[in-house]
Amino acid sequence: MKIKNAIFLDRDGTLNEGIIKENVDNFKLRPPHNNKELHIYKDIAILNSFTDNFCLFIITNQPDIKKGFQTEEFNNYINLSISNIIPITKIYTCFCLETDPGCNCYKPSPGMILNATKEFNINIKNSFCTVFLNNFLVSG
Ligand SMILES: [Zn+2]
Repeated sequence: MKIKNAIFLDRDGTLNEGIIKENVDNFKLRPPHNNKELHIYKDIAILNSFTDNFCLFIITNQPDIKKGFQTEEFNNYINLSISNIIPITKIYTCFCLETDPGCNCYKPSPGMILNATKEFNINIKNSFCTVFLNNFLVSG
């Protein structure tokens, strides 16, 4: 199998606007929960110019589904809307809670990156990862 390079993309706050919800636990950026909140960044189309040399992966924590703040359907709709703009090789999602025991995929754990690397024969040394903006904390 040919060895490929990858760009690992965070979703909420990187590809689409993340939402600050004061009613949801700890002020982390949340995913949009409905159409009104969904704003995909126009600039992501630039990623199309990298697809000759890189596979694009989304790696995303989505605990809001388990918490009941987000539906699986809308989560899929966000993914589909992004995939219509840039060709995503695969979307890896951790549906666990940060506190779930035995989860090795909730970022910053590397589980999702390691799975993609194995599954698609990715050369990790020549690959890139976006900053995890959803760990952004709001003060005050
Ligand atoms: Zn997980």
